[in-house]
Amino acid sequence: MAEPAADVERMEFQLTLRRRGISDQAVLRAMDEVPREHFVATEYSESAYADQALPIACGQTISQPYVVAYMTEQLEVRPQHRVLEIGTGSGYQAAVLSRIAREVVSIERYRTLADAARDRLKTLGYANVTVIAGDGFAGAPDRAPFDRIMVTAAAEQVPEVLAAQLADGGKMVLPLGVRKGPQYIVKLTRLPNGELEREELIAVRFVPLLPGQAKEL
Ligand code: SAH
Repeated sequence: MAEPAADVERMEFQLTLRRRGISDQAVLRAMDEVPREHFVATEYSESAYADQALPIACGQTISQPYVVAYMTEQLEVRPQHRVLEIGTGSGYQAAVLSRIAREVVSIERYRTLADAARDRLKTLGYANVTVIAGDGFAGAPDRAPFDRIMVTAAAEQVPEVLAAQLADGGKMVLPLGVRKGPQYIVKLTRLPNGELEREELIAVRFVPLLPGQAKEL
């Protein structure tokens, strides 16, 4: 049985998401099912259900719960979808996506983060997630096309290689913006003629999408 205090915390967590406008039931359920305390460092476990981003290893961050829920809702993930995520980090966003989608492939440029996320997801029983250590700019051509792509680090322009790995009618949600400038969540939809329809959504702050696999661990 969960501690009563923990129950209250998780109820407030759901309320915050609803109050901020998340209404997709599948997204709210996924956010309720994934235990965020297992994805944050022990020293931050008391803040696991606060609506804020937290530091993880390798100088990276686990995104704020509202932004995770918002991007997931905007991606319009359905149970039959195969989803590609760029920027595994802690594996939290991948776990949330895995509760809705058929399959999730997630790429992380730091081997340390990729290995830790893979172990964590396996231990927690998220069997439909594959974590790959590599360069997200290349995507996963051997597993493409994807119905949905989510990028969880900020790019300066639309990564065309990733857009090309979208299935017809596929959607990609990503933070876009120049270094140190404003960033926006952008939603792209691949039209039947191959063009990308573009919609600008909320302002956000993400760590940068960096080229290549990390040299350091
Ligand atoms: N989705 C994560 C948070 C992501 S933070 C979570 O739920 O915890 C952004 C992550 O993107 C960082 O871990 C960073 O190392 C990674 N990243 C940045 N550029 C990348 C690239 N080119 N390929 C793969 N991962 C990248």
